[in-house]
Amino acid sequence: MIDEGPSADDIDRFGGDTGYCPHCGEEVWDQAPQCPSCGTWIEGGVGGQRPDEAWFKRRMTLFILIVVIVAFILVFVL
Ligand SMILES: [Zn+2]
Repeated sequence: MIDEGPSADDIDRFGGDTGYCPHCGEEVWDQAPQCPSCGTWIEGGVGGQRPDEAWFKRRMTLFILIVVIVAFILVFVL
C-alpha cells in the first residue's frame, strides 16, 4: 500500500472541513468523534494545523525505502 497522504478526493468527500488527529496526525473529518486511523477519541474538535513533522517523517521513510530499492536494482542490473 502506498501512502500518498490525503488526496483532493478525500477532502471533497469530507465536505472540505478537515483537521488533523492530535494523536497520530492523520487527516480526519472535522466532525468525527473518533480518529479512523488510530482510534483516538477526539474531544473538542481536531487541530486545524497540519503536523508537518509527522507527515515529513512518513514521507522520508517512504523516500528512503524507494532509494534503497532503486539502489538494489541498479547493483544487480549494472
Ligand atoms: Zn489518530
